[in-house]
Amino acid sequence: MLSIQLTCPHCHAVKACFAGSGKLSPFREKENLFLELMQCAICHEGIVAKIKHGAVDNAQRLSRDQQPSEYSLVDHWPKRLEAEIPTHIPDNVKSYYLQGVDCSSRKSFDAAGAVFRKTLEAALRALPSSGSGTLAKRIGSLPEEVGVTISMKKWAEEIRLLGNDAVHEEAPFTEKEAAQLQLFTKLFLVYAFTLPGMLSDHKQTEAVT
Ligand SMILES: [Zn+2]
Repeated sequence: MLSIQLTCPHCHAVKACFAGSGKLSPFREKENLFLELMQCAICHEGIVAKIKHGAVDNAQRLSRDQQPSEYSLVDHWPKRLEAEIPTHIPDNVKSYYLQGVDCSSRKSFDAAGAVFRKTLEAALRALPSSGSGTLAKRIGSLPEEVGVTISMKKWAEEIRLLGNDAVHEEAPFTEKEAAQLQLFTKLFLVYAFTLPGMLSDHKQTEAVT
């Protein structure tokens, strides 16, 4: 049976062992290409692997009985989805945001909720004074020049995870709440950093031309 080590696009385990179904389906026989269903040993989710009989430059070899085989991995699906990250955000904010997206994709919604809050905390620290109190209050009192709209501020008030400073609240975060907080965080970063950053880039380009 063919096997290979990959970062799983489903559970994100690094070097997860994927074992083949044992049935290579001819794909383009003249090119020695085949398709095979392979399964992650950790989460048991599947991928479809495009495999070529023979060596391929820069392609990983599949193994058979723990020995390198004559097959190479050309491509596989699904691939890990890279999060769309708002641009022009501070590095620490970017790192927290990516961690939140990662926790969400692993269905760790409590962790995701906590990290998205941390993302907003770090983002607020990078902005002009936003007052004190809960995250929702601090977002609500951001000065006008920050560019966060009134509707974003009103929305912040409606998100439970922003109106309460006790992150260790008993009630666990639901998938829906984590998704809502992720969307809010992303839009907040777009209004507070991406749009002003793009405008400033545009002005600089105009000044040069
Ligand atoms: Zn997996």
